[in-house]
Amino acid sequence: MAEQTDTWQLPQRQTVPDESGFFGAFGGQFLPPQLEGPFAEITKAYHEIENDASFIAELRYLRKHFQGRPTPVYHARTLSLLNGGAQIYLKREDLNHTGAHKLNHCMGEALLAKYMGKKKVIAETGAGQHGVALATAAAHFGLECEIHMGAVDIEKQAPNVSRMQLLGATVVPVTRGLQTLKEAVDSAFEAYMADYENSIYCIGSVVGPHPFPLMVRDFQRVVGIEAREQFHEMTGNLPDVVEACVGGGSNAIGIFSAFLNDPVELIGVEPLGRGTAVGDHAATMTYGHEGIIHGFKCYLLQDEAGEPSPVYSCASGLDYPGVGPEHSYLKDAGRVQYVAASDDECRDAFFLLSRKEGIIPALESAHAVAHALVKAREMKTGTILVNLSGRGDKDMDYVIKNWGTGGPV
Ligand SMILES: *Cc1c(COP(=O)(O)O)cnc(C)c1O
Repeated sequence: MAEQTDTWQLPQRQTVPDESGFFGAFGGQFLPPQLEGPFAEITKAYHEIENDASFIAELRYLRKHFQGRPTPVYHARTLSLLNGGAQIYLKREDLNHTGAHKLNHCMGEALLAKYMGKKKVIAETGAGQHGVALATAAAHFGLECEIHMGAVDIEKQAPNVSRMQLLGATVVPVTRGLQTLKEAVDSAFEAYMADYENSIYCIGSVVGPHPFPLMVRDFQRVVGIEAREQFHEMTGNLPDVVEACVGGGSNAIGIFSAFLNDPVELIGVEPLGRGTAVGDHAATMTYGHEGIIHGFKCYLLQDEAGEPSPVYSCASGLDYPGVGPEHSYLKDAGRVQYVAASDDECRDAFFLLSRKEGIIPALESAHAVAHALVKAREMKTGTILVNLSGRGDKDMDYVIKNWGTGGPV
């Protein structure tokens, strides 16, 4: 399938949103009037620096010397052999500093904050992963960092709360409503609205109002650019299939963006959780339809009134009722296929990769591995490149408590 393309050129940005930030019918900028000015400023600043040689040079330097990039591509031979079928390769974002891909866009956002002369970065966090990545970037750049987190999540994610505090961030407990991610977003937005002169809001995925889906995608493109070149160097070819898990969709768009013009099948894997009932999963593309959440339009799991539905996944980085607008666009364009993997499939893949390859994946990433195993058996031959978005250290408590150390291997 994936014949080598004639010219060995990296594809340029494939899908640029229009001036209002729309990818086809999705995206845009649905903001309270007082934030329109500040967001226009962010957009303007980003367009100034995106092609600026010194900004790019500094980001490159940091990626190499601070984050440890490029992260390798690894041929999971044992896993592939045991599974039968296509050969599975992993892009090792678990080896990026802080243990996941999120630092790629946090370093970019913090560098932008510095360029704009802001003193402070503000964000929400659910499980704490985005909070830790942003606190890391803020520590590096000498910026203040304020992370809003639901009181329930603070209780559940104590190690990440300590990490953020160690890195010098202020963690603001949010005690309204269900005291989880959605309330944390509202609270962070309000804090930003009250202080947009000094601060910048830093979103944790390719979601939110324009220009964040564009900006975060561009900062994550490094994953795909590296992986495409590394895979080609290893095999002399392109992969037949590229897979990644999709929460908001930043790690997936990061790797997909380099392959959009290639004869490569792209698959995004969403969490099916405990099953198909409302509140038991977060498979937005499969069960959602067009709606608005957090200032942008996308596929959305929602009730009749358009309110976001409750969502669930064992992987807390995936349980978001919306999804990035570019993914929504790529689904409708037929360029990317979106499928779902359940908690049980995630668990089996988690144990298999740990036991047979010596790589403990994040539960989010294990969803992508789970579907890749199924796909590899269907394909019988060929190659699949999976974006292993993060490492599983953060999931130890959950795994041991729910599944033990044995696992069905
Ligand atoms: C946060 C997170 C995700 C989900 O976020 P995306 O924006 O969909 O990539 C996936 N994997 C890991 C390890 C994460 O921390």
